[in-house]
Amino acid sequence: MLFGYDEVSGLKTIIAIHSTALGPALGGTRFYPYRSEEAALEDALRLSTGMSYKAAAAGLDLGGGKAVIIGDPVTDKSERLFRAYGRIVDSLRGRYITAEDVGTTAEDMDMVRRETRWSLGASVALGGSGDPSPVTARGLYAATRAVAMKLWGDPDVAGRRFAVQGAGKVGAAYAQLLVENRAEVVVADPHEPALKAAVDRLGATAVPIDEIHKQETDIFSPCALGAGLNEATIAELSCQAIVGCANNQLAVEEDAQRIADRGILYAPDFVVNAGGLINVHDELHGYSRTRALHRVDSIYDATTAILDAAERHGINPNEAAEKIAEDRIREIGDLRRFRRSGDDRN
Ligand code: NAD
Repeated sequence: MLFGYDEVSGLKTIIAIHSTALGPALGGTRFYPYRSEEAALEDALRLSTGMSYKAAAAGLDLGGGKAVIIGDPVTDKSERLFRAYGRIVDSLRGRYITAEDVGTTAEDMDMVRRETRWSLGASVALGGSGDPSPVTARGLYAATRAVAMKLWGDPDVAGRRFAVQGAGKVGAAYAQLLVENRAEVVVADPHEPALKAAVDRLGATAVPIDEIHKQETDIFSPCALGAGLNEATIAELSCQAIVGCANNQLAVEEDAQRIADRGILYAPDFVVNAGGLINVHDELHGYSRTRALHRVDSIYDATTAILDAAERHGINPNEAAEKIAEDRIREIGDLRRFRRSGDDRN
């Protein structure tokens, strides 16, 4: 954990490194007006743990980390702030690699990158991977096909009905893929322009935000904020499966079992939404869109492996995914005992 301050720009940041067992801890920078430093710290710790699991389950050689900047992303951003932040990231000498997240953009990362090479997610103009959202949507779609295959013996989504909660950057791109593949989409979003775009451009049907999870559908897709699946909403679900991009969809861990007990198949969030991470990770090798997308499509196989393991061991898919991630962190992380010649990696 590293606390960083810059009085001149008002920067207040916390960088949390959860694990470097598989490689450098990669995770975005969240810019958010936290109520207190304690709240910011709690969020950074929780998010950095999630990143370790996400990277491990995606088969990447990455650990988990996350940074938060305490402030209002609309009023508190400045060149000085991001460059001071870049210097703090640089002081960790690659143990933590940052990228964009809620409240930060590729342009912000361009400023960070002027002070450290340990920043990914630069804009396309600077040779970076740009906005991860369409790639995350593509990975989500691959996971959806895996779930369809598991449920119905056919990965095709044509004629299936989907409820998409949140038509933001990922939700809208995902809904578009569904419509292009002749699925039917109902959508909810409190942000009127986002909702209108989904209805006008995609022909989706709008429903109120407190009704979306109750819709009778084949697949419910949480693409808004976290903790949308809780004891109350799970009891009201009327779908066969859940596949969505939102991070931390389950309010508490027991919710995974509640969903399973209702006979609903849950595709774990950190497995199906790894497309953005896989995309940005590719920059470490000199970004190749083709290579990144190829790897993102393997989310189909990762999802299938987890659903099969859950079935085999009689556990819910969330437990299976966590077990697969933990096993990999332990087994592969342990390999680092053997130093390779000329190896200075930690
Ligand atoms: P976004 O802000 O563009 O979209 C979120 C949308 O949800 C907004 O349009 C918002 O109005 C809407 N929303 C908020 N509350 C809602 C509610 N109660 N019901 C319905 N809609 C609601 O964000 P995004 O980049 O599309 O990300 C969506 C989720 O996916 C987030 O949880 C994010 O952490 C996660 N995620 C995103 C990426 C990525 O590549 N962008 C990658 C992995 C995970």
